[in-house]
Amino acid sequence: MRDIDLFQMALGLTPPWQVSDAKFNLKKKRLDIRIDFPRGSTFTCPGCGQAGMKAHDTQKKSWRHLNSFQHEAYLTARVPRIKCDNCGMWLVDVLWARSGSGFTLLFEAIIMTMAKSMPVKNIAEFINEHDTRLWRLLHHYVDEARDKADHSSVRKVGMDETCSKRGQNYVSLFVDLEGPKVLFATEGKDAFTVKRFKQDLTDHNGEPEAIEEMCSDMSPSFISGVGKYFPNAHLTFDKFHIMKIVNEAVDKVRRQEQKDRPELFRTRYWLKNFKNLKPSQTETLEELTIKKLNLKTSRAYHIKLNFQELFNQPAEDAKAYLKKWYFWATHSRLEPIKEAAYTIKRHWDGVLRWFQSNVNNGTLEGINSLVQAAKARSCGYRTTRNLITMIYLIAGKLKFALSI
Ligand SMILES: [Zn+2]
Repeated sequence: MRDIDLFQMALGLTPPWQVSDAKFNLKKKRLDIRIDFPRGSTFTCPGCGQAGMKAHDTQKKSWRHLNSFQHEAYLTARVPRIKCDNCGMWLVDVLWARSGSGFTLLFEAIIMTMAKSMPVKNIAEFINEHDTRLWRLLHHYVDEARDKADHSSVRKVGMDETCSKRGQNYVSLFVDLEGPKVLFATEGKDAFTVKRFKQDLTDHNGEPEAIEEMCSDMSPSFISGVGKYFPNAHLTFDKFHIMKIVNEAVDKVRRQEQKDRPELFRTRYWLKNFKNLKPSQTETLEELTIKKLNLKTSRAYHIKLNFQELFNQPAEDAKAYLKKWYFWATHSRLEPIKEAAYTIKRHWDGVLRWFQSNVNNGTLEGINSLVQAAKARSCGYRTTRNLITMIYLIAGKLKFALSI
C-alpha cells in the first residue's frame, strides 16, 4: 500500500476526491497532504443540489488537520467552482471542512472538545494557532447549536447576573431551572435584558405566557421586567439573596458595635452558618451569644437565625411565622435589622412564593459554578461575546453538530 492510499483511507475520502501527494517536511515539522480530483469529474451544486456539474475553474484552499505525531498536518486542494443555471457560480462543498473554515471538521471537533475543559488561550498555545481563529470557530458552533435549540417546554426560569472584566460589564443569565441549563445570556442588567430574553424565548418556540415561575434576586430591574414581559409568572426571590440581606444587616450591627466592644473584632463568622464554623469559632460565638446576651450583635444574630428558620417551616405556617419575625425585627431597635425587615416587607409575596414554587437554590448555585469555570476558560477573553459563548458552551447543554 502506498502512503497516499493510507492517507486516503484515514481521511475517509470518497470519489472524485483522492490524495494526490503527501510530503513530510522534517525541518518544519509539517505534513502536507494534497487532495485532488481527476479530470472530467463532476460535482453537485451546493445551491440547488443538482449533480453532474463540471468544474468551471478552481481555487486553491488549505485546512489545518489533526497533528500527525509531532507534525502539524495540512490538507490542500483545488476546490472547483461550478456554474449552475439556477444558482450561478458556486464553490463546491468539500467533505472534510465547513465552507469558509481553515480547519478540517475533525480538527474542529477536537478543538471543541478541548474548549470544554481548558482555557482557549492554552489551546491556542498548544496547537500553535492564534486564539481569534479559535474563538471564531467556537462562536460558529455555539450559534449554530443555539439556533436549533428548542425552548418550548420551559416553565421555570431563574435569573442571575455575573460580571466580567473587573466588574465593568454585566452579563445577565436566564436559566431553565428544570434543565438545568443556561437558556440565554446577554450583556447588561437592566429591565431590557428581560425583554431580550422574551424575544429569544419566542425565537426558540417558547411561549412567554407559559412561564409559570421565575426566580431572581431583589434587583428592581428584574422585578419590573418580569411584571412587564412575563405577567403570568410568579416571582420567587432567591433564598440565598434574601439571606444575604439579613446577613449584611448583622454585620453592619457588629461593625457599629465593635467600636465599643473590641471582642467583636475579626468575628465576621457571625455571617456563616453555625455548622460551617471551625471549633474555635464556635466557641467564641457561643461565648458571645450565650454569655453576653446584652450584645447588640448577639441580638441581631438571633434574629438572623430565626429568619433562617423560616425556610424550615411547613408551607401553611410560613406566612404567620414571617409576620411574627417581622414584628420582632422591626421592634429590635437595631437600625440595620429594621432596614432589612422593611426590605423583606416590600418583597413579601416573592419571599413567601418559595413555599409554592419550590425553586431549588442548588440549581442556580450549580449553574453559577459552571459560569465561574467559563470565566476561567475564557480568561483574557477581551470581549463579552467571548464570555457569553463560553457560558453557552459549558452551561448551555447544547447539541453540537460535530463529526467525529
Ligand atoms: Zn444550483
